[in-house]
Amino acid sequence: MRWDNLVENPTTAGDTALFGTSAVTTRTFDTPEFRGITFHEVRARSILNRVPGASRMPFEWTVNPYRGCTHACVYCFARKTHSYLDLDTGLGFDSQIVVKINAPELLRRQLASRRWQGAHIAMGTNVDCYQRAEGRYRLMPGIISALRDHANPFSILTKGTLILRDLELLRQAAQVTEVGISVSVGFTDRELWRTVEPGTPSPERRLDVVHTLTEHGIGCGVLMAPVIPFLGDHPDQLRATVWAIAASGATSVTPLVLHLRPGAREWFMAWLGQHHPYLVRRYERLYAEGAYAPKWYQRRITRQVHELATEFGIGPADRGTPRRISAHAEPVPAEAEPTQLTLL
Ligand code: SF4
Repeated sequence: MRWDNLVENPTTAGDTALFGTSAVTTRTFDTPEFRGITFHEVRARSILNRVPGASRMPFEWTVNPYRGCTHACVYCFARKTHSYLDLDTGLGFDSQIVVKINAPELLRRQLASRRWQGAHIAMGTNVDCYQRAEGRYRLMPGIISALRDHANPFSILTKGTLILRDLELLRQAAQVTEVGISVSVGFTDRELWRTVEPGTPSPERRLDVVHTLTEHGIGCGVLMAPVIPFLGDHPDQLRATVWAIAASGATSVTPLVLHLRPGAREWFMAWLGQHHPYLVRRYERLYAEGAYAPKWYQRRITRQVHELATEFGIGPADRGTPRRISAHAEPVPAEAEPTQLTLL
């Protein structure tokens, strides 16, 4: 398999479309937070990825320093992208992490190219750039510094509290360019969180991030995603979540109902069968048409959240400060595809 070759036998650029001239180095770390996780360090050939079909997205370019995500959300749409490397989309996605160790220097070089026009760059749109690995590899400070130095507008969507480590850099960048930060919190139910987002900081800690960012003058929106049917959509749950988001000082709240694309769907349904077997038939009916819940359901959730947002004095994103990210739960497999488009 292609990935086996990458891991076992160091390859060159000619052997793979995704990674560059250096060998893949595989590492494990015997510390509690990284136990059971394998890191595959690669040198990418390009770090700026053009989003296929960008006209449907609020951004055209992305930077993704990692593949796979230890946050391990059961519903994660990006699971499918691991299959492009012949890696498992279930536990493998949670524990086999590709690290593009040259991401900062590569981005700085690509931003300096005369061909680069300074377009907005979205991060965290495929996998979380502030997942646990970032604590060790520290790629984001170099990435943000490069964007700051080129005054290049960017946005970050994350569930990771680690973003606060880079607060000062974000402040510096925000002084010279447009910076949009969004944190993803779909619900505040702790039991649901523990089982469906087992590797993430708790919703409370994520909302603390929102609070800290706004306190330091960096406006932060909340992508209320995913709203999980029958498990996180009770009116009391929606109310508690929107209230907590409003209390955090978020500049906006944008609800998004769970969707289940291939790769995520199988993994989520297996989880559902194990934890909530009585819901399997209801899910099969709700998602009978495909990856998305029916429009009537989506509209109902959106209306409820907007009404609560109004009640608690927080606007939807399109009425608040500029929002650059709205699609963490949208599949953006730009670089994951072997046919990726790269700019420079
Ligand atoms: S949904 Fe986001 S935070 Fe969760 S596993 Fe996927 S990329 Fe990571």
